[in-house]
Amino acid sequence: MALTAETETGWFDAPVLEARIPSSGSNTGDNEFVLVHGHYDSWHVGIADNATGDAALLELARVFADHADELSRDIRVCWWPGHSTGRYAGSTWYAEQFGLDISKNCVAQVNVDSPGAAEATEFEDMLCWMPEADALARNAIDDVCGKAATEVRPPRAGDYSFNNLGVTGCLMLSSNIPKAVREERGYHAVGGCGGHSNAWHLSTDTLDKADPDVLVRDIRVYATIVARLARREILPLDFRHTVESHQQTLAEYDEAAGDRFDLSPVREALGTLDAAVDGFYDDIDAGGPPEFVADDIDAETANEAILALQRSLIRVDYTTEGQFEQDPATDRPPYPGLAPAAHLNDMDASERKKQLVALQRQRNRAVSLLEEATEVLR
Ligand SMILES: [Zn+2]
Repeated sequence: MALTAETETGWFDAPVLEARIPSSGSNTGDNEFVLVHGHYDSWHVGIADNATGDAALLELARVFADHADELSRDIRVCWWPGHSTGRYAGSTWYAEQFGLDISKNCVAQVNVDSPGAAEATEFEDMLCWMPEADALARNAIDDVCGKAATEVRPPRAGDYSFNNLGVTGCLMLSSNIPKAVREERGYHAVGGCGGHSNAWHLSTDTLDKADPDVLVRDIRVYATIVARLARREILPLDFRHTVESHQQTLAEYDEAAGDRFDLSPVREALGTLDAAVDGFYDDIDAGGPPEFVADDIDAETANEAILALQRSLIRVDYTTEGQFEQDPATDRPPYPGLAPAAHLNDMDASERKKQLVALQRQRNRAVSLLEEATEVLR
């Protein structure tokens, strides 16, 4: 049996849609904004990936525009083309066109993909966020749905086109069909539609794969997260947890590298940063995370520090390339520049020599970025 297919390749114009909601409440950061976004291109009808997400974005734009006087930061809502057909081309274009603005003013990006799928009662295993947003995301899910959620590192997927710019990312996919139900039905793992492997990227991703009640609940989760980012006096992002995850990564790489490569300069820089970050959060911590209030430090200074921490720490943990470049859109391990240190034993002498040069460069970069992060907390 033979299968034939026609593929059209070439360059195509595609609109990027954006709604800007300027805050008219008391402003803590002049031009600061939260970016909420998702893709509008789809496979076949594409109801649960990602028509539901597009509807969620529209509803968020409508509700926040009605409440602009209660916001202290702006909100931008974006709908991207080229997610599947251009490997995140729409969000990448935006990251480049507005690179300077984003690097100065974007306080976080919230990705909306595949919410509101039918039977998606749980928040078990399809969600992800960066560590500093862990308490923010889990608290919002608990507050809205009373459900538990687990922290997962964001892969280089969704529309996470803002990692090189160093922007905290929160969510990508949404709620899911219970894991046990998927297993019972023999569903394979998929990257959308709440786990409907009988529909994801297929002609069967139709209206029956969505549930309006589930969608409203999921929109409330996004709204809660975005509102907290756009309203709290101090950004609800906890970088103590981020530094902790960096230290874990480095400990693993160090052990695997053994005597082949010295990671102690990075571990020392992380140790210094750890102490500085603890001191910083002591100054703004008046309750459990992420409920921060200005205490021994004013809110503006605290928010500037939190933005600077994002810019340095995300770059070192998710990228190897420059701030205004794009790392390849393939999955990267944590500290991708230093990850080869963990595999030196498996390489032949020639490959190892090559990797040691690259590692030396990336170690310099890592220490420099960590020192930059420490410097802003002094
Ligand atoms: Zn999608």
